[in-house]
Amino acid sequence: MPLTQEAVRAWLQRCAAVLEENRDYLTQLDAAIGDADHGVNMDRGFKAAMTKLASLDTQDIGTVFKTVGMALVSTVGGAGGPLYGTFFLQLGVKTTNKQELTPQDWAEALEAAVNGVIARGQARPGDKTMVDALLPALEAYKAALQEGVPFSEALARSAAAAEEGMKATIPMVAKKGRASYLGERSAGHQDPGATSSYLILRAAAESWAG
Ligand code: ADP
Ligand code: MG
Ligand code: MG
Repeated sequence: MPLTQEAVRAWLQRCAAVLEENRDYLTQLDAAIGDADHGVNMDRGFKAAMTKLASLDTQDIGTVFKTVGMALVSTVGGAGGPLYGTFFLQLGVKTTNKQELTPQDWAEALEAAVNGVIARGQARPGDKTMVDALLPALEAYKAALQEGVPFSEALARSAAAAEEGMKATIPMVAKKGRASYLGERSAGHQDPGATSSYLILRAAAESWAG
């Protein structure tokens, strides 16, 4: 069954709730290798996005995602704001004029979103960033669709790959972002952005499990 705009909004709301619940956790992760604001940033950004969405009346799923992206860009700041802003803006570009999304539409949108983050931040796999969660999640999702597994299972595999990618950032030495200033001392800590990416993709799997 394709995703309706209602389902898309339910995912975004779940993201906002999960990021609020994990605000202190994400901020603690960022305290170890950054500037202790990632949880606060994401919570503020998604709250602002939810306020914008509450008064947005549209048929177009693309407009919903673009509204979230713009809210994140204008309220989050730092590295996370422009990167997650790009992620949601690209989801929006790929879903322009769509009133529902098929599993294949989601593959194309997620691909554009992840590629947008990579183009914007220039991080490669292994640099200890959100890309280390996002890229394996995209690849697992596409592989699952190719195998013909049901949508909910493809989303679950995608979230599981994001979790594995997130955990794999622990031993990595950061090559991008603030954590890279620490050099070797960034090893031994889980990347906050990879963690928020996992939470966001897990929220999709949970929201769209039906
Ligand atoms: P800031 O570092 O500006 O305070 P945040 O704390 O909100 O921003 O976000 C930090 C996260 O952003 C990092 O944990 C990392 O995952 C991600 N990040 C930083 N730089 C890049 C980059 N160039 N490409 C991809 N992700 C990045
Ligand atoms: Mg930070
Ligand atoms: Mg900061």
